[in-house]
Amino acid sequence: MVLKLLKGSILLFLLVDFGAATAQTADDSVLIRRLADTILTDGKAYGNLSVLTKKVGARLSGSAGYYKAEKWGVAALTDASGSAGKVYLQECMVPHWVRGGKDEAFFEWSDGRRPAKGVRKSLDILALGNSVGTGPAGVTAQVVLIHDFDELERRKDEIKGKIVFYNYKFNPLFIETFKAYGDAVRYRALGPSRAARYGAVAVLVRTMGEGVDNNPHTGALMYNDSFPKIPAAAVGLRDADALAAALEGGRNASVFLRTMAHMLPDTVAHNVIGEIRGSEFPDQYITVGGHLDSWDPAEGAQDDGAGCVQSIEVLRALQAIGYQPRHTIRVVLFANEENGGRGGRKYASAAKEAGEKHLLGLESDAGGFTPRAFSLGLSDTQLAVVHPWLTLLQPYGVYEFVKGGGGSDVSPMKPELGAVVGELLPDSQRYFDLHHSRADVLENVNKRELELGAVNMAALIYLVDKYGFGQ
Ligand SMILES: [Zn+2]
Repeated sequence: MVLKLLKGSILLFLLVDFGAATAQTADDSVLIRRLADTILTDGKAYGNLSVLTKKVGARLSGSAGYYKAEKWGVAALTDASGSAGKVYLQECMVPHWVRGGKDEAFFEWSDGRRPAKGVRKSLDILALGNSVGTGPAGVTAQVVLIHDFDELERRKDEIKGKIVFYNYKFNPLFIETFKAYGDAVRYRALGPSRAARYGAVAVLVRTMGEGVDNNPHTGALMYNDSFPKIPAAAVGLRDADALAAALEGGRNASVFLRTMAHMLPDTVAHNVIGEIRGSEFPDQYITVGGHLDSWDPAEGAQDDGAGCVQSIEVLRALQAIGYQPRHTIRVVLFANEENGGRGGRKYASAAKEAGEKHLLGLESDAGGFTPRAFSLGLSDTQLAVVHPWLTLLQPYGVYEFVKGGGGSDVSPMKPELGAVVGELLPDSQRYFDLHHSRADVLENVNKRELELGAVNMAALIYLVDKYGFGQ
């Protein structure tokens, strides 16, 4: 009997000692249930998103919309954090790119019959973010169909004076569409300067997506300063197919392109921050956020209004159930993710300067779709420690912790602050039907999917606040 008791207490001691992060109690599932209940019944995520998308709308860095969005963010965070909260702006300089007018393009080719009959077809395009424009006269040149960078290198002598059309497609064999995006997006980001190097006068790039519509998707390019800056635009998928079909077999076609895009001087914008102070470790931080800026063709509903309102909802839900966090919980609505990443870098560098200790930087910037997993920048040992938390998240949809990291806004927190960074990974199948296109509107956000993302984010923040990562 004595021996049995002793054995029992040794076992108990071992369990407790194994690491606080593994310990979880029935209380945890009750508390997470309460978070879920308030988000699913009294939640403000969708209502906040309605205001952001319909009353503010597009909000690219430096635009009037962005400053309206800052005001919206202050109001929403003030409401969510209650009397215990603190809401403030963090200044950062941002690039100020403007589209400058309507983008126009068409192509003309001969149908190959004798006598040849000229055919003209308009192209649905959007100038790429940060691109220069053609000016009001536009540019007309013969177009060269290029399937990938290897072909560009092989045919570099044919490029001078031409418009290069990159028709690299999303690889449908990637089940996670972010992998297809990562594979294809180098043609948008780097393709213009690669073509300029060989004397191209402009670039068209197949839209980053594999939807069935013809909406062009914009997004940032990155010029290489060693080569001339040339105009560049994305072409809708159906029009890209039509242009490619006209050019297959070496047929000639010319393209007319007119864009009025240009860069203005850098300007001041802000990260919008709301926090509730920790009761035990007020000088240690857990950050959760999304980016406040969005592309100009639509409302930035999924990218990334969803991540903003989910992050605000985490704060609201913790307050609503009366949870007193041990660490300071901060919501950050980051500036300038889309065409500069300045807000994320500013946040991390300012935190470093202030000597802050950060446990976690979590973001939601992959759409407000059904939650599936969290990507976390943890070691295998740390992942094993948090793995038991999945039993608490599974009822709400997250069934996996993926070893990885965060998106571009929280990533700088790792090198600057040594923080664990991570992101919500929702179902990815529909994201690139909408991303950076005129279809990214509130009507393409499902209220319940959005809320379930917030539930899982709130649950993870709670667990990290309570148990840490077992370091
Ligand atoms: Zn985004």
